[in-house]
Amino acid sequence: MALIITDECINCDVCEPECPNGAISMGEEIYEIDPGKCTECVGHFDEPQCVVVCPVECIPKDPAHPDTQQQLLGKFFKLHPDKTPYLPAASAAGDTAALSKPAPTEGC
Ligand code: SF4
Ligand code: SF4
Repeated sequence: MALIITDECINCDVCEPECPNGAISMGEEIYEIDPGKCTECVGHFDEPQCVVVCPVECIPKDPAHPDTQQQLLGKFFKLHPDKTPYLPAASAAGDTAALSKPAPTEGC
């Protein structure tokens, strides 16, 4: 599931540089998250970095973008084709399937 910034955002600028996917940018009035780039930090960190740093806790999950873990990982591979994902939880559980790269789709 991608995350979304609500109108409680105070434009403190803290989250934007923390996003490993470049998914956060300034919108018309407040910061916004590009759901096509937000992986909930899957592949990079244990937890969403924007949520960790936000002082007003205004970054919930976006029900309009209910990505599965595999879909989030698919976004990671699309954004970072040459990187190996960091998946501590999956690795610890022996979930090696989560580490496999999705098969390329036609037209990509
Ligand atoms: S959860 Fe991670 S990838 Fe998504 S917007 Fe926040 S920092 Fe970026
Ligand atoms: S950290 Fe929170 S309050 Fe600050 S710009 Fe990001 S979403 Fe807005």
